[in-house]
Amino acid sequence: MESKKEHYKRALLDLSNRKDLIPGIYNYCDRWCERCTMTQKCLTYLHEQEVKAESDSMNPDEANKNFWDQIRMAWEVTLEMLEEDADERGIDLSDVPDIELPKHVETPLEVRSRDYGTNIHNWMKDNQQFFAAKAEQLVTINDEASMIKYQDAMEVIQWYGPFIGAKVHRSHLELEQRQNNPDDEFNLYADNLGSAKIAIIAIQRSMDALSVYYSAFKEMEDEILKFLLELSQIKKQMLSTFPGVMDFKRPGFDD
Ligand code: SF4
Repeated sequence: MESKKEHYKRALLDLSNRKDLIPGIYNYCDRWCERCTMTQKCLTYLHEQEVKAESDSMNPDEANKNFWDQIRMAWEVTLEMLEEDADERGIDLSDVPDIELPKHVETPLEVRSRDYGTNIHNWMKDNQQFFAAKAEQLVTINDEASMIKYQDAMEVIQWYGPFIGAKVHRSHLELEQRQNNPDDEFNLYADNLGSAKIAIIAIQRSMDALSVYYSAFKEMEDEILKFLLELSQIKKQMLSTFPGVMDFKRPGFDD
């Protein structure tokens, strides 16, 4: 009988052989699967759903055990597949020389983007009562449309808060070396561009969502404006750091 690990690996391989899925679509998405328009083209999503379906049929303790098993298996299976791939290519992984990774020095833009995530999170938290009171008013007057609009805006701001800093950071990894490498045999700079593009998209969506609040909550105008200015400056600097970034084609989303 197939072991749990064999089952995990076979499910992954079956999915990776499906021609209707888009390879690498999950590399430069925003990982917001609940709002994604490409779930049925995405191996990561479909595989996660299979795992989730298994957990749904279990009691909570079994489901939690399954969760940790899946984390361990993901690592083991990835390693196994890497070794098989290396074998096929005649590469002995035990013979690969140690690579010294260059130390990454954070740029001011990375710090600023990460700080935006922390600040917006704290601001939302500090004003929880204000937002709750506003929601209550809308319920009282039965204004469901506004309620949904503000709720959607809040979700967008919350989702992208930490995401922007993470992607701005990734887009800066080994940036100088990659930008100044005309050969770029393995097309490594594409990873910087893809990360930069999704960061810029996230920034723009956050600005759109904050604008909804800006027009609705006059009491908070100054604070919201500060966040809008901050995002606008981060976006501007990203666009100038990554010339032509918006022409980068993210698999599945921009083809
Ligand atoms: S492409 Fe869509 S479904 Fe796949 S991981 Fe990204 S957000 Fe989730």
